Amino acid sequence: MRYFSTRDKTISISSSEAIIQGISKDGGLFVPETIPKIDNLMELTKMDYRKLAYFIMSKFFTDFEPTLLKEAIKDAYGQKFSLKDIVSIEKVQDRYLLELFHGPTYAFKDMALSILPRLLRIALKINDIDKEIVILTATSGDTGKAALEGFANVEGIKIVVFFPEKGVSQIQKLQMITQEGENTFVVGIDGNFDEAQNGVKRIFNDREFKEVLDKYGYILSSANSINIGRLVPQIVYYFYGYLDLLKQGELEDGEKINIVVPTGNFGNILAAYYGKKMGLPVNKLICASNENNVLTDFINTGVYDRRRELKLTSSPSMDILISSNLERLLFYILNEDDIAVKDKMERLNKNGFYKIKNINIEDFYGDYSTEDEVTKTIKDVFVHYNYLMDPHTAVAYNVYDKYKLKTKDNTKTIIASTASPFKFGKKIADSIGLNTLGKDEFQILRKLGDKTEIKIPEGISSLKDKAIKHNNYCSKKEMKSMLKKFLKVGEIYD
Ligand SMILES: *Cc1c(COP(=O)(O)O)cnc(C)c1O
Repeated sequence: MRYFSTRDKTISISSSEAIIQGISKDGGLFVPETIPKIDNLMELTKMDYRKLAYFIMSKFFTDFEPTLLKEAIKDAYGQKFSLKDIVSIEKVQDRYLLELFHGPTYAFKDMALSILPRLLRIALKINDIDKEIVILTATSGDTGKAALEGFANVEGIKIVVFFPEKGVSQIQKLQMITQEGENTFVVGIDGNFDEAQNGVKRIFNDREFKEVLDKYGYILSSANSINIGRLVPQIVYYFYGYLDLLKQGELEDGEKINIVVPTGNFGNILAAYYGKKMGLPVNKLICASNENNVLTDFINTGVYDRRRELKLTSSPSMDILISSNLERLLFYILNEDDIAVKDKMERLNKNGFYKIKNINIEDFYGDYSTEDEVTKTIKDVFVHYNYLMDPHTAVAYNVYDKYKLKTKDNTKTIIASTASPFKFGKKIADSIGLNTLGKDEFQILRKLGDKTEIKIPEGISSLKDKAIKHNNYCSKKEMKSMLKKFLKVGEIYD
């Protein structure tokens, strides 16, 4: 299987090369030249998570030796997850919540970032690269910690994370700045996520700087969801969720489902779209946004317009105006016309918007939730169904309510539940009516645990006593110089 760039199909590389490069040198994203098909789902119900993961990933990562890929999967989806089945499905009201947050950092990002470092190491071996890899990542909160956790102390790799100092939850920030491991580097910036992501993209596109890094024995790669090594592992759990419902008799063979995904960078929902293209029986993919509703507008009008103020909401991992992975969907809805994709992306960059005439994205439905709706949803679902949701999942839950009301569609529905509510303690406590006045984050969490009778995850309660390892802060213009400092690159270090 070869991969080509969404902006230039003449660029064609292997899966291991695509994982190493992260993003194509023309700025495009790598997509597989064909999408493998899976039929006879019933036969797959016997597989556990790892077997299914191998079954799916081996169709995409064709230059990986089977034993090595199996080993990587076994290591990634093991002890670090608190559930033997890796994910779980909870039925709440009339819908199925696919809980993807039982990994080491309590967000769905673990589903892919626990395996990406292992894929990358194999990829380096396949390509005989003996340089040191520098993973450069911008995070809206959850990717940063999941990547740090995955890459910490991995030999031959350094990891650098930039996060918006004011744009993440208190727990998310603590998770990152207490990260151990000599090869980790965490920096808060005085900007929002889009600015952090742009800064990282600028560094990636800086050829001169890349040559300097090369001289020092470094190559850059990305742990952001643009990396195909993140996208493919995310396809697995949509199949797994479907198969699990099939096994339980909740679905009949071939019965279609809707999938609702709280969306920011469009990585998670894109994986579900790939699942559909591969043969998963999906009716609608419901794209749920918060008040930063660029995607809602795009799906409903065909106009993508980032010229608006970024709002900070209680679902920070979705506070995004430039949704990177949408470029891959664009590639498909423009009938794989690379020139047209390039044109749209250049327009977005230059003018801040683009328009697709006669847009046809029947596979998708898009809507969003306001902050008040999120608060009310968290409360109502807790009170009526005794289920506690994080704010991202609540966005999806609420958008699905609206979808049902509007369309009267009764197709069974899976909602991706993307984070533990305890990562967002204050918002959750406030929503269900606990008094948080004058209390610190950990007092709030304790109160929340008492009230809901849910155990606070160990990795979150233990943050209280952890030493702060990273105390770096810079403006968005200084990102490159921070990186140079960390890597000891540049004249002053020669
Ligand atoms: C990253 C994240 C999302 C958004 O996922 P995308 O793949 O960026 O669309 C939603 N919820 C949580 C908790 C996240 O961490």
